[in-house]
Amino acid sequence: MVLKQQNSDSDVEVLEKNGVTVTTFEKLWNWGRAHSFWPLSYGCNCCPIEMMAAGASRFDIARYGYEVFRASPRQADLLIVAGPITVKMAPVVKRVYEQMPAPKWVIAMGNCATSGGPFRDGYSVLAGADKLFDVDVYIPGCPPRPEALFHGLLELKKQVEGVK
Ligand code: SF4
Repeated sequence: MVLKQQNSDSDVEVLEKNGVTVTTFEKLWNWGRAHSFWPLSYGCNCCPIEMMAAGASRFDIARYGYEVFRASPRQADLLIVAGPITVKMAPVVKRVYEQMPAPKWVIAMGNCATSGGPFRDGYSVLAGADKLFDVDVYIPGCPPRPEALFHGLLELKKQVEGVK
């Protein structure tokens, strides 16, 4: 395409007027990542039941492009901590997180994952996933419904796209 500069238009403005979108590679990669998270198949206790419902036909997580749950952390970029993390399980969850390649994100789904929930004062449960690693989005509820999980995923999408 031959760019013809009119008046004081910059090259970018001329391109946009001709129906061409101008962006950076970083924004393009993040746009792709934000539309196709690959969550790890991980859950512990009752919140994962809602996560599984989110993946089934009634709620259909696939309409957002987030349905490719992986069995291996090496193939996942999103850890949805659904349920409490026990003290015994903590080193395993931490190791699984470390095995995920960067860039990677974490959603704490439900009161147990965000703060320990009803087990918070117990001797055997961590008071939230953020005691182990950074959490990008917190979803309260006991349990949160699939719609709440979708809301959390869309909030993460905004973060990854740099909108928020
Ligand atoms: S937040 Fe409630 S529903 Fe979710 S794992 Fe904890 S006790 Fe179960």
